[in-house]
Amino acid sequence: MNSEYLFNRLKESYRAGVNHTPENRIEALRSLRKMVTEQEGPLCEAISRDFGKPYFEAFTSEIFTVVHEIDYHLKQLRKWFTPKRVSDSITTFPSKSTVTFRPLGTVLIIGAWNYPVHLTLMPLIGALSAGNTVLLKPSEIASETSSLLASLFERYMDPKVVSVAEGGAELTTELLTLPFDHIFFTGSTRVGKIVMKAAAEQLIPVTLELGGKSPAIVHKDADIAVSARRIWWGKTMNAGQICVAPDFAAVHESVYEAFIEESKKVLSQFFREDYRVKVNYTQIINETHFDRLSNLLDSSIIKFGGSVNRDTRFIEPALIDAKWDDLIMEDEIFGPLLPVITYRTPDELTKHLLKMSAPLALYLFTESESLIKQITETIPFGGGCVNDTISHLTNPSLPFGGIGDSGMGSYHGRASFETFSRKQSLLKKGFWPDPRLRYPPYSNSLIKWLKTWIQ
Ligand code: NAD
Repeated sequence: MNSEYLFNRLKESYRAGVNHTPENRIEALRSLRKMVTEQEGPLCEAISRDFGKPYFEAFTSEIFTVVHEIDYHLKQLRKWFTPKRVSDSITTFPSKSTVTFRPLGTVLIIGAWNYPVHLTLMPLIGALSAGNTVLLKPSEIASETSSLLASLFERYMDPKVVSVAEGGAELTTELLTLPFDHIFFTGSTRVGKIVMKAAAEQLIPVTLELGGKSPAIVHKDADIAVSARRIWWGKTMNAGQICVAPDFAAVHESVYEAFIEESKKVLSQFFREDYRVKVNYTQIINETHFDRLSNLLDSSIIKFGGSVNRDTRFIEPALIDAKWDDLIMEDEIFGPLLPVITYRTPDELTKHLLKMSAPLALYLFTESESLIKQITETIPFGGGCVNDTISHLTNPSLPFGGIGDSGMGSYHGRASFETFSRKQSLLKKGFWPDPRLRYPPYSNSLIKWLKTWIQ
């Protein structure tokens, strides 16, 4: 089935109101929940075939998070759906004003490969709970998961509510010519720009969930053992192929050596010198990314780690001694290499961070409230944690998204519902009273009265 046919079918069914009522939306979310819980085994196996993600990671980050999000929407949806009465104004009295969240229409969701289930289904949940019909385009790079998702959707979901289009850049280019009501894209900043440019041609609003170089800052007062453990947890999960992985560490010079020693300990505790790919550790997605990361290793000063095996697409986590202007500090790493840079003062650190593009996440390890205030007030970033990495995105009450090069718009929980809705404002008046004051011929009495309000 070609993409135009799929689009037209979804558009027609949207117009016919297939996913409009709260009952319709709840039914769609329940079908999705059934699909994910019944098929968790095959889904985790497909992800493992794509790039060796261990079952533990696949279950916790691709299955559990998705079901948790569905349950959150099922619980809140009726409340979000109910029109909100807002206060009247002096300019409209007497009247009744309401704001209602309406669906956008037929939306396109384009997924990335690194969390091929999570990144495709999390936005879908919001799109369904907001009452849209949806065309999903999973990443072709995680091809096993993409084709399994396509067949599962046919089996579990009404194709008039959600359809899946499989393919790569060529298909995405074709989809971007269709008059969707919204485009939700997860991927690189480079392709994000292509998507936004194409969307601008038809004035289609976009949400862009992109990447960036997310710093982990370790201040001198931090608990170094806990900081190292939490940073390496975020860096080795999915072999660092996470949009919110700590990209590099900026460590206060007085705790640099301690951080290195703790890092060695942490990695030997995590992996006991045996990485057991597919059990405890993930492969690099393909040869292109493997070669890109190997080249970065070749151009870096490696403090420890960093062994590689191209046959198994294995890259050992590596701690790299780095400077702000090193090659590895140019682009998002998206792999298990952690450059560590030292700083002397928070002012020096913020000066460097402000020269970089706004990251998707920022992690700060400290107990100093004044440092937390300084960093969070001066550095723009999408979201983050104090004394942890990554976990902010698992709380559905926190909107998740980037800023500048790391994206625009946000989702998760209520933010997803709002992203896939438009706010419809409605002012309702009775036929009485109908004072003549605002109608021509004009008189000064209304002006005089209004002036009393702005004095
Ligand atoms: P990508 O930009 O290469 O691909 C994303 C999607 O765009 C895929 O579906 C692909 O088919 C499509 N695409 C690729 N080239 C295209 C082109 N020329 N024209 C039109 N469409 C095209 O990204 P990726 O490699 O799948 O993912 C890695 C990137 O995604 C990283 O930068 C990472 O930080 C980012 N990311 C962001 C988030 C987030 O939530 N913010 C999550 C995961 C990944």
